[in-house]
Amino acid sequence: MRKEKTLFVVIPCYNEEEVLHETTKRLKEKMNSLIKEKLISEESRVMYVNDGSKDKTWEIIKSISEKEKLFTGITLSRNRGHQNALVAGLLTARNYADMVISMDADLQDDINAMDEMIKKYHDGCEIVYGVRSARKTDTFFKRFTAEGFYKFMEKMGVDLVYNHADYRLTSKKVLDNFANYKEVNLFLRGIFPLIGYKTDKAYYERAERFAGESKYPLKKMLNFAWDGITSFSVKPIRLILNFGIIVLFISLIMIIYSIVRKIMGATVPGWTFISCSIWFLGGVQMLSIGVVGEYIGKIYSETKQRPRFIISENLYESKKNK
Ligand code: UDP
Ligand code: MG
Repeated sequence: MRKEKTLFVVIPCYNEEEVLHETTKRLKEKMNSLIKEKLISEESRVMYVNDGSKDKTWEIIKSISEKEKLFTGITLSRNRGHQNALVAGLLTARNYADMVISMDADLQDDINAMDEMIKKYHDGCEIVYGVRSARKTDTFFKRFTAEGFYKFMEKMGVDLVYNHADYRLTSKKVLDNFANYKEVNLFLRGIFPLIGYKTDKAYYERAERFAGESKYPLKKMLNFAWDGITSFSVKPIRLILNFGIIVLFISLIMIIYSIVRKIMGATVPGWTFISCSIWFLGGVQMLSIGVVGEYIGKIYSETKQRPRFIISENLYESKKNK
């Protein structure tokens, strides 16, 4: 008989005392049914990651893990933000699991999509992205900003899965590779598409938060978007460079125009010189900043020390181990 695979569900929690009991209740049911269907092994766990909460979150996690066999937790030394907490959880869970699913503590992402994710994992997918098929329950503002975010990111040259947040299944293999992405400015949903392997999507509808408030106010969202762009693309620098080229071009036209006007005698003394200088120097400066920026961009990508490739199969190794 096939040995079942072990699943870890990683959940970052920041001041989530209001939702934890309900979340635990729902996930317990889900995990038990998955175990019963033999989709996952009995060693599977839900791992809460306490992200330096200021309320009773960690106490609650500890008491749940004592009472419930399927639940466990880790805690961070202080609040490090959602993305860092998630990485801590993923990199810890990969030591015990064959596959890891990450989700939020408020269960806004339908946990019934887990079945499909796990089935796709068994079909050979290494990453399964949870994708929102509808945002009916989000407020107009949240929907507008969130969808605008994906479009803007695309324009800025960041490769993203549309309407996918951090609800995803990743195999142990993917996480072992992910561990080599040592960057500090984290934008996970941009990193996983870089890793490759066979991937798929699972669609679900996003629900409302059943208790508590969003821990992602507009300010955090904007910061997050900015991190995403500046961690994944040097396009903003290129824009400056292109702009510089355009201004320099305009300056040439201006110079010709000014000289013509001067010859025609239609200018006051000094005008030609000043207007030419302004345009020309402006263009040169912009262009120079752009060039300097290109080099900074290169330094910036190098300092990330991202792995340049991932070997997905090694025939020599696999033969040797036979
Ligand atoms: N979160 C975290 N650290 C933070 C902020 C949020 O671990 O500093 C967690 C939070 O507990 C939740 C998840 O990140 O599990 C998503 O947050 P939230 O549901 O508030 O965001 P929204 O769904 O409104 O975008
Ligand atoms: Mg939420």
